[in-house]
Amino acid sequence: MLTKRDFYINGAWVAPAAPRDCAVIDPSTEDTCAIISLGDQADTDAAVAAAKAALPGWAATPPAMRRAYVAGILAQYEARAEEMAHAISLEMGAPIDMSRDDQAPCLPWHLQNFLTAFDQIEWVRPLGPHAPNDRIALEPIGVVGLITPWNWPMNQVTLKVIPALLAGCTCVLKPSEESPLSSLLFAEFCHDAGVPAGVFNLLNGDGPGVGSQLSAHPDVEMISFTGSTRAGRAISVTAAQTLKRVTLELGGKGANLIFADADERAVERGVRHMMNNSGQSCNAPSRMLVERSAYDRAVEIAAAVASSIKVASAHEPGAHIGPVVNKRQWEQIQGYIQKGIDEGARLVAGGLGLPEGVNKGFYVRPTVFADVVPGMTIEKEEIFGPVLAIIPFDTEAEAVAIANNTPYGLTNYVQSQDGARRNRLARVLKSGMVEMNGKSRGAGAPFGGVKASGRAREGGHWGIEEFLEVKAISGWDSTAEIAAE
Ligand code: NAD
Repeated sequence: MLTKRDFYINGAWVAPAAPRDCAVIDPSTEDTCAIISLGDQADTDAAVAAAKAALPGWAATPPAMRRAYVAGILAQYEARAEEMAHAISLEMGAPIDMSRDDQAPCLPWHLQNFLTAFDQIEWVRPLGPHAPNDRIALEPIGVVGLITPWNWPMNQVTLKVIPALLAGCTCVLKPSEESPLSSLLFAEFCHDAGVPAGVFNLLNGDGPGVGSQLSAHPDVEMISFTGSTRAGRAISVTAAQTLKRVTLELGGKGANLIFADADERAVERGVRHMMNNSGQSCNAPSRMLVERSAYDRAVEIAAAVASSIKVASAHEPGAHIGPVVNKRQWEQIQGYIQKGIDEGARLVAGGLGLPEGVNKGFYVRPTVFADVVPGMTIEKEEIFGPVLAIIPFDTEAEAVAIANNTPYGLTNYVQSQDGARRNRLARVLKSGMVEMNGKSRGAGAPFGGVKASGRAREGGHWGIEEFLEVKAISGWDSTAEIAAE
């Protein structure tokens, strides 16, 4: 068992101010795999003070040098990618092959995209020819608190820490207490890459503790948060007292509109996307809306595909799905499956209880409900597990109305061979992202939602801009500018 009680503050591993142990549970086995500490106010104050002290130096570090430090983090990852994959599998249950191929590689993918975007930034630029003595300067917002969830742990850490550092901010990262191991390793990457003391700090803790303390802290200028809509609301309320910038990436209830002219793999693709990561993705296409004439066949395919998906330990190689993250999540998902049955949806795959032959670990059977009616609990609420709801529709307008009738607005999906229809739908679906015909977003595309999915944008240049302030300057001496060049 790992013992990882220390926090990374001011360039060193330090013991918590007061001992408060927290067990990290391996969801594949239900065994304790690590002991970490949960920080308290004294730890939060120390981490924020370190970030504050490091801010002037880091903000004044030339962009090219900040870039070099970030590239150094990438080099560390490349040398230790396998360790990262194992840490993720252990802490949150992603099967090891998926951790190697999808979870851990989020770090180099986003980091590279940020570097590309970073190279295009003009830190001080003219306002326009009409105002020759005006300049627009981009400056780091200051000390930032970064609070992340457990479901795609390195994805979210990278989407926050890297742009913060590139922007010239110093930070305190509080990863989820469910998935601290990948972040502890990430802190080692930062340390070994020579990131100056205090620029990156890592504090383990829970929401009511370190999470709330960072949100309330007067020396923290911004909170970047990914997680539940519930916690996003709580953070916004707490942060309002100090008028911090708050950026939120929250939950989702994505609709996948499948028309009768969709390609033949569309249903299978939708089911596999839903079940990926055991359904624990905020952008999961959890509502499959199918045009009536293709409906019966789609239900048949969906049931067959879900039934063929193997569920097994995260430590076994293979293309199966792993357990869900913890007992609470498992019980919550069971509650939703029961609700689906009670409210009259037709269970066509999976269902209650552990998969056959399993008696330990937080495994959920890949579950599909057909004949789901808008307004049923499983149609409205984010389940965050491998549970798909299939809903028939008759017209495009009806499909759009069902898709948009949700408090969430993260990602919607369209499957149709009709390009004009796809383009039309892309503009009327209320979400931060629309993905069509299985084409994933390109490098550097922004990730984020609208409504209760939060309104942040992460990734590419949008992701860096979140951490910048825009300063308008007039009376700029352009001769001095030329002389300095
Ligand atoms: P969670 O909100 O319980 O926890 C997320 C993080 O917030 C953890 O680090 C937790 O300790 C912290 N936290 C909890 N309460 C807090 C509070 N009051 N103040 C400050 N911090 C607090 O969410 P989770 O269960 O870890 O993650 C699942 C949720 O995250 C799902 O709803 C999912 O849709 C959402 N999510 C959204 C995105 C996105 O980009 N939109 C990505 C991943 C997950």
